[in-house]
Amino acid sequence: MADYRTHITTSGILGTGYGLAATLGAGFTPVQGMLAAVLTGVAGMLPDLDSDSGRPVREVFGLLAAVAPLLMHNRLVAWGGGTEPAILLSVLLYIAIRYGLSTLLQLLSVHRGMYHSIPALFIAAEATYLAYLTDAPSVRGLMALGVGLGFASHLILDEIYSVRWNGATIQLKPSAGSAVKLLGKSWPANIFASGLALTLGYAVLVDGGLNSVDRKHADRNPREQAQIPNPKTHSAEPGTGSIHSTTHSDRKPTPHSRRPTIGEDEEIDLRRAARSDDRSY
Ligand SMILES: [Zn+2]
Repeated sequence: MADYRTHITTSGILGTGYGLAATLGAGFTPVQGMLAAVLTGVAGMLPDLDSDSGRPVREVFGLLAAVAPLLMHNRLVAWGGGTEPAILLSVLLYIAIRYGLSTLLQLLSVHRGMYHSIPALFIAAEATYLAYLTDAPSVRGLMALGVGLGFASHLILDEIYSVRWNGATIQLKPSAGSAVKLLGKSWPANIFASGLALTLGYAVLVDGGLNSVDRKHADRNPREQAQIPNPKTHSAEPGTGSIHSTTHSDRKPTPHSRRPTIGEDEEIDLRRAARSDDRSY
């Protein structure tokens, strides 16, 4: 396996490239690009959290304990209901990760357990998406993908280092194939890791998909929101109002009325169809 320095160098370079590409190519702000670069770099160390090799693992825990509360700031403010509870939660989270989690993992784990695996990669990326609470799903995706890339660089590097060039022949070290794996030897660990990856994946879909739509509606200017007609009673597009019976014609569409989204468009079409059926007898 590759050592601490090789891992952090590789993921650091990868992160720099990723951050630059995000900023120059994908239109993210320089700060977002730099943050994504740092997260990619840190994630390159994550799989070795379960190693028992003294200093490096302590540094990784220190880094993770410091970065996690910062990353989760908005989430902690939401949970605590304000800035002060969020600061208190940040300190508690730091202590919990720095001392509690590291002790727990060292008691439980065997190196190259499930942390060096594809499910663990997904868990890290998904947890990042959920922890990094912001209104823009693309920014959350940028950070989560960065963590996934850093994590993947570690697994691939460990695999590369398990191949030994011996003149003309290639020999595989006993550790070959143990870094990039889908399943480990321990079935409870496999079930736990895969289940957690799937659960978090579902949470990402719910949190990133449905919630962001809800939030967009909630963030709408209150005056504008007040003018959103009730879908049960409002009349359809201006110009088509004439087809409505008297129960609808008294509600004039306002000039600021919201453009219907794709789903609502279909709904309106269905209602129009239903009304024309009503008039047909
Ligand atoms: Zn490793």
